[in-house]
Amino acid sequence: MADPEPTYLNTLRLIPKLPFLFGPSPIQALPRLTRAISPPTSCDPRITIHAKREDCNSPLAYGGNKVRKLVYLVADAQAHACTALVSVGGIQSNHTRAVTAVAAAAGLQAVTVQERWVPIDPPLYAQTGNILLSRLMGGDVRVGIGEEGGGEEGFGIGHKEATRRVCREVEEKGGKPYYIPAGASDHELGGLGFVDCMVEIAGQERELGIFFDTVIVCSVTGSSHAGLIVGAVAEGRGRKVIGIDASGKPEETKEQVTRIARNTAKLLDPDLEIPDSAIILDDRFHEGVYGVPGPSTIKAMQLAARTDAVITDPVYEGKSMAGMIQLIREGTIGPGSNVLYVHLGGQPALNAYSSYFETESAKDVQ
Ligand SMILES: *Cc1c(COP(=O)(O)O)cnc(C)c1O
Repeated sequence: MADPEPTYLNTLRLIPKLPFLFGPSPIQALPRLTRAISPPTSCDPRITIHAKREDCNSPLAYGGNKVRKLVYLVADAQAHACTALVSVGGIQSNHTRAVTAVAAAAGLQAVTVQERWVPIDPPLYAQTGNILLSRLMGGDVRVGIGEEGGGEEGFGIGHKEATRRVCREVEEKGGKPYYIPAGASDHELGGLGFVDCMVEIAGQERELGIFFDTVIVCSVTGSSHAGLIVGAVAEGRGRKVIGIDASGKPEETKEQVTRIARNTAKLLDPDLEIPDSAIILDDRFHEGVYGVPGPSTIKAMQLAARTDAVITDPVYEGKSMAGMIQLIREGTIGPGSNVLYVHLGGQPALNAYSSYFETESAKDVQ
């Protein structure tokens, strides 16, 4: 007789979600990047690097990690007969683009507050990339309304006053708002998408005949990281999930990851405990400030692009790529390790950062 399904999987299966993903996102080997950062002579047995391509996970507006989380939240919004999704992010937020995309696909309205979270203003920053896509999809895009209402709150992973005002406005017009916090993270259902992702990874490992002992993921509002941690602890196979902070405020991010991981675990199985040792956040690669790439970010982006043509963005994935490369080079990730880099998406922001790739220093760093 087959073993009974663990409680967390049973519970997870019963929580409603919408079919906004293609199915399992692909896992791809990165042989040229692997050779470039761990030459055969330096390390035996060899390290392998694969990428879990969450940037290719959905047909909706280029997908990414936020769509994987939102499949649960939008099902909840529909169950509550809401008419509008209300959320918040930076000007080039992937999250607000994803909220607008799932709203379109679900036949809901989207109102997104776009705040100036990033202390730079490169050419066309507020016209191209994600914000262009949101406008194209018919989103009600509100730039700078935080300023009118008594001051922009600045970058933060917590809850925002401006969204409360927008919710009231939706109600006054007879609609019913569904509030989604920044990054769809600090929400009861925010961690579920990436528990699902870990379950998916385990299934793909069985097919590939590999076990990824080390998983690398970018962490900012924290629920992608938290969900993967819950999935890894629940399966109990001892794999390590290493978050790479890109928030520039690692204490806040770590606190939020811990809270979301524990709440998500409790939702799925009251007996599932997340030990402190499972929460790993490396704070060496955020380059000081959210949304601004530094030299190590640009170098890592170039290396990934020039070896296996993996395109990463300067806000998130370039920083986690820099983290993975360094963890391997310095030997923290040791010989024989099978590493899985979870690529969370974010390429639509790249064009808004084109000026970072015109300078001499950026041309040929390697
Ligand atoms: C939002 C985002 C992240 C960070 O994920 P969180 O769940 O907010 O920690 C990383 N990469 C990309 C591309 C993102 O859009």
